[in-house]
Amino acid sequence: MIIENVYVAPVVGPEIESGYIRIEGDRIAEVGSGPPEPRPGETRIDGAGCLATPGLVNTHHHLYQWASQGLAQDATLFEWLVASYQVWAAMDAEVVKGAAAAGLGYLALSGCTLSSDHHYVFPSGRGDLFAAGIEAARELGIRFHPARGSMDRGHSQGGLPPDIVVEDRETILAATAEAIDAYHDPSFSSKLRIAVAPCSPFSVTAELMTGAAELARAKGVRLHTHLAETLDEDEHCVAAFGVRPVDYMEKLGWLGSDVWFAHTVHLSDGDIDKLAATGTGAAHCPSSNGRLGAGIARVSEMLRRGANVGIGVDGNASSELTTLAGEMRQALLFQRAAYGPAALTARQALEMATLGGARNLGRENELGSLEPGKLADLALWRVDGSFASAVTDPVCQLVFATRQPPLARLLVGGETVVQDDELRTVDQDASGRAGAEAHRRLMRLAREQGFSVKKEVHR
Ligand SMILES: [Zn+2]
Repeated sequence: MIIENVYVAPVVGPEIESGYIRIEGDRIAEVGSGPPEPRPGETRIDGAGCLATPGLVNTHHHLYQWASQGLAQDATLFEWLVASYQVWAAMDAEVVKGAAAAGLGYLALSGCTLSSDHHYVFPSGRGDLFAAGIEAARELGIRFHPARGSMDRGHSQGGLPPDIVVEDRETILAATAEAIDAYHDPSFSSKLRIAVAPCSPFSVTAELMTGAAELARAKGVRLHTHLAETLDEDEHCVAAFGVRPVDYMEKLGWLGSDVWFAHTVHLSDGDIDKLAATGTGAAHCPSSNGRLGAGIARVSEMLRRGANVGIGVDGNASSELTTLAGEMRQALLFQRAAYGPAALTARQALEMATLGGARNLGRENELGSLEPGKLADLALWRVDGSFASAVTDPVCQLVFATRQPPLARLLVGGETVVQDDELRTVDQDASGRAGAEAHRRLMRLAREQGFSVKKEVHR
């Protein structure tokens, strides 16, 4: 396959105003400028009027939360969690499958070719919740890095979640090891990799954190958790453990190039230097941080000090219908509003959403930029639309625009997943309906357990 006459923003190396990308099998064979040498039998895609970027990488998500959007709209993180836990306690595999089908489809439509997912609520006797998300990703055909999440520190042990949504440590570690053995594919072209992800300092014991790190390192998989999201968490860590979040993680052996944290909003200069020195990554989720009033992560300072930052949409219940492409804009505007117009460029935002994400997930050698030898994961954005055509810089148009440019193509390993803003591997309307049905089903199951939806929408 060859995409020609296209503006190429490869993220690594100079941009090409009119060039081509040649794809052989699931890899990029060639990226060049001008017209390509034609080869007989090659499928030619005319990229005139389009911008080619690497596929976007989503480094933090909770797909199941598609089913619990719109609740506790005016709450802080802790208030929102307390309101949501009782709803999540009612979910089953059918809810997760429908939520994941909608959530992943929505991501693909905003240019995402690789998504992580952090699932940490496993009510017992509700079917195989972890497998349900994997099935949805397989059907859609995008790369998927689900993290087996967990909570073992319920209310009775000083944690935030009610005891009904936590599991015991042995069960968690055994189920996590089982998930890795069953699904983890370390190959170059892998579409499925597993990570180990206890939920957060305020819902997990120190013993589980260290046990999880030992397990992940023994199995050669990555580690993920929420960290430094709110000032409430800061206070909780100081009160419960005597140290702030990053120092707590350091004590537990949780800093390293195999670790990425979600949020990292409240970091000191020293915290940032620790992340940079150890190669620990961060997933920046600006819409979620804005929705919950958590604060603005010091992303430009993190980049300046050499820390790796990727982007994440976070679960739809705390970010609502946030698109991955839109998070580049949100990241850009947050940094500029807080630190001035030079704080973050459109190209830096694009790099975070692609190569930065690939680094967080340990895949920078395989994807995240348009270079020969890398996987053919790319997005082709149509930037010659009637209103948009007045913008001379296509990268500016992609990153600054409130309305995402039409997605002419989304390729995952050279296979078309989206064409002309429509999912091509699955029935798009059916995916949307599955998400709505998952929401109705979850609310019904939650009501049967005594949850009042009306009371929890907003204060
Ligand atoms: Zn999260």
